[in-house]
Amino acid sequence: SERPAPKPGVMDIAAYVPGRETAHGVAKVYKLSSNESPLGPSPMVTEAFAARNVDLATYPDGSAHVLREAIARAYGLNPGNILCGNGSDELLGLLCQTYLAPGDEGVFTEHGFLVYKIQIMAQGATPVTVPDTDLTADVDAILGAVTEKTKIVFLANPNNPTGTYIPVNEVRRLHAGLPGHVILVLDAAYAEYVRRNDYEAGIELVSANTNVVMTRTFSKIHGLAGLRIGWMYAHEAIVDACNRVRGPFNVNALAIIAGAAAIGDRAHVERAVEHNEAWLGRVSEVLEALGLTVTPSVGNFVLMHFPATAGKTAAEADEFLCSRGYILRRVSGYGLPDALRMTIGSEEANLGVLDALKEFMA
Ligand code: PMP
Repeated sequence: SERPAPKPGVMDIAAYVPGRETAHGVAKVYKLSSNESPLGPSPMVTEAFAARNVDLATYPDGSAHVLREAIARAYGLNPGNILCGNGSDELLGLLCQTYLAPGDEGVFTEHGFLVYKIQIMAQGATPVTVPDTDLTADVDAILGAVTEKTKIVFLANPNNPTGTYIPVNEVRRLHAGLPGHVILVLDAAYAEYVRRNDYEAGIELVSANTNVVMTRTFSKIHGLAGLRIGWMYAHEAIVDACNRVRGPFNVNALAIIAGAAAIGDRAHVERAVEHNEAWLGRVSEVLEALGLTVTPSVGNFVLMHFPATAGKTAAEADEFLCSRGYILRRVSGYGLPDALRMTIGSEEANLGVLDALKEFMA
């Protein structure tokens, strides 16, 4: 019988499957699968909600003006260069919708964030995967994959799920090697965790060029994943083009208020960075002492590999941890079947996972 067919290519897309939400049959669940902040949002967010009588019957401001102003103020940018979205996921898709047509190519790295490939394919464009070197983006390999059909290059820096990072001089070299018609999307979802603050230089790269976009999120350091708030910083011409395509009220009323309050609380961001810094090294060291291989991370998560010699697999470890209430992230979808990704959580969560893994590996 005849039935509606999705446009060509859609059925070739492997849907994004988020990590487990919960574990059953355990008293307490620790969710360390989506790189959310153990500190949660700034207290200023709660205060901002309490201080306002949010009118939920009315549409939000379609340009998210208050939020863009607050972001601009926090970073010394022009609000006209900022576009907000329903999570940075939406903005990654919006860039593909705006710039990619069938026949165009979108380039991303082998262990890069899965959303790039999905959104490139959703436009009927061709996804081009570039091999990493040591689980790290390889600038020469990326440049080697660019053709006259390439319209977008995505680079997550730090990258999820590997936690690896390339320094700003490498990002500059990547940009310098790209033709002017190619947009370089710097996905800086985890930028705040990088102490070197190289992302300030990323902002400079956007400011000085017409073909660089930086995407940011409130889901990680700001502890607001549930509200879905992201933003991008780009040349006016890119913002203008994306504004023609995006949904009219893509950022909701609560998100606008919360985001504007959160971005101003530098002390909260600092607390989150410090917490992460205090635990990232410690967790990595203990994992290595247990016989696992840890990819050095600059994000708020670590990728642990279960070597064949360990006699235990990542899948078994995942099941064991889940039975204890610890939810980590399988990353087979990223071509890493031997690994689990763990978000740096609260002290209790981190120590709990390490204890449970010790028992599992014994
Ligand atoms: N980019 C990267 C590299 C990510 O890891 C994530 C979150 N998984 C996102 C973008 C999307 O984040 P959000 O849509 O919550 O802003």
